[in-house]
Amino acid sequence: MDYHPHFPPDFSKKSLDTLEYALDHLGAYHSWQARDPGAGSDVDQRYASLPVLTKRDIREHFPAGFVPPGRDFETAVASGEIQTVNTSGSSDLRVTNIWHQPWWDASEKASWKLNSHAARLATGSHPEAILANPRNVGIISDDVDLPYEKRRLRRFLYLNEKTNPTLWSTRLMDRMIEELSFYRPAVLEANPSLLARLSRYAAAEKKPVFQPGLIVFTYEFPSQVHYRQIRRVFTAPTASSYGTTETGYVFMQCEAGKFHQNSDFCRVDFQPLQSRHGGPRLGRMLVTTFNNPWYYMVRFDVGDLARVDETDKCPCGRDSGFIVSAIEGRFANVTLACDGRLVTLRRLDDALAALDGIDEYRLDQPSPGSYTLTVATSRTDRKQLETEAAGLLRGVYGKAAAVTIFYRDTLAPEESGKYCLARALFPLDVEDFLDRRKGEIT
Ligand SMILES: [Zn+2]
Repeated sequence: MDYHPHFPPDFSKKSLDTLEYALDHLGAYHSWQARDPGAGSDVDQRYASLPVLTKRDIREHFPAGFVPPGRDFETAVASGEIQTVNTSGSSDLRVTNIWHQPWWDASEKASWKLNSHAARLATGSHPEAILANPRNVGIISDDVDLPYEKRRLRRFLYLNEKTNPTLWSTRLMDRMIEELSFYRPAVLEANPSLLARLSRYAAAEKKPVFQPGLIVFTYEFPSQVHYRQIRRVFTAPTASSYGTTETGYVFMQCEAGKFHQNSDFCRVDFQPLQSRHGGPRLGRMLVTTFNNPWYYMVRFDVGDLARVDETDKCPCGRDSGFIVSAIEGRFANVTLACDGRLVTLRRLDDALAALDGIDEYRLDQPSPGSYTLTVATSRTDRKQLETEAAGLLRGVYGKAAAVTIFYRDTLAPEESGKYCLARALFPLDVEDFLDRRKGEIT
């Protein structure tokens, strides 16, 4: 694959400065020096020679190994200049990270340029409503419903305070719809599974909803099943924003539907998968952050697979950084076909999108060759549904796939607050799927 993204003029220098600073001054990266071919080599080659930063490494070296010498972590936490935040996840290691709000805000602001709607609407003081799991952002209150004032913070309104959306009462969903109407957010930031749940309710009750200027999906892979439910009531433009707590904003989906790299704030190194697993356009992303005075992430494995665009161009005209046609889901959510080939969540989700009348689904793979699909549906023609679903799954996984289907009234998110749409119930290691001969694309 011959692909060389264009970058802003200062990108190469930022890459070099960040690399050299981390190797020379930060404990987490000291042992990497032995792998660095040194100052005489091309900066991209130097990055490609280095190991990958994992969540395990963050736990091992946090915080001292990532904070520049001369900066006092304890004092800054005490003064409120920085905070620590925990990421939670059942499929992931729990990690504590440094949160520096000004850097986060600047990274977000830079990402807005990558979508025309966001660039027009997002001023930094615009009203924004957030429909997220409070385990990810917001305030948790499972027992009592919090009044409006308790869910306001700066320019934000948190629409949901419950950790389990299957427990949303009709009163709570009515409140969300009413609050959207009078808060009139320019931007609605939403976890797609939660907005789908609210949309199912609004559609069933024929309740009109306020249309924000832009709906930004974040926190989760946006399933087509969810997207279709949202589209039944929300006509506003939508965009997916991709990032992580560790790395800030990495990609933003433009108005033409492709993802553009936030290259003022991060570097992405792309490791292609083997061709039988979908490479070389499909691969994993390692992210290096720029400009964060408190926290240096270098070649952090964000855990997601991306598909580099086939044309290397976008109708929107933006050409800075990687152009990605899709974020294909987390590696933790891949499954294997009967012949051992990797199936991304996006591939599965595209296939299951053909099923009508599905509220939620989860695909478990207990062992190679066997697949268990759990669905929440209002459909009563279950024999027909099972025939359709098994046919679609065999189209993805192979004719020999043993398919079992279960029904649930509703599916709850994982402990992380996010829905799990697919997973193999046996261990898989991304390293086994990478194409080592291809090298990296930077
Ligand atoms: Zn574009």
